[in-house]
Amino acid sequence: MKKELWEKAVGFHGHECPGLAIGVRACDAAMEKMGIGCAQDEEIVCITENDACGVDAIQSLLGCSIGKGNLIYRGTGKQAFSFFNRKNGEKLRLYFKGVSHTDDRQEKQKFILEGPIDEVFDFSVPKFDLPEQARIF
Ligand SMILES: [Zn+2]
Repeated sequence: MKKELWEKAVGFHGHECPGLAIGVRACDAAMEKMGIGCAQDEEIVCITENDACGVDAIQSLLGCSIGKGNLIYRGTGKQAFSFFNRKNGEKLRLYFKGVSHTDDRQEKQKFILEGPIDEVFDFSVPKFDLPEQARIF
């Protein structure tokens, strides 16, 4: 986990919390597995299944926003994020498995940020596709 990603997200979000950590780790994992960086345009699209703290990490680290149309909220209440790369059609869904071995907030946050990635998230192919790209009028 890169420290500067965490600091950037915390600066945007306003506080440190395990929820933000979920979003930061999800971005970090998506960047690595899909080879993506901060969305310059709309090529990286995120569908978030919750509207909790973690979404702020997606906005600050991947440049996805509701206003630009590349952040889509599809509420299921799950701590799950799907990332799509419009350039090459790659897509990846990350589902947070939860932390059950501790109730301590700090320890949870640390595990989410630094624990083995496959113990933090389930990776799968999203079952849904993207809506058509937003038209620029
Ligand atoms: Zn928070």
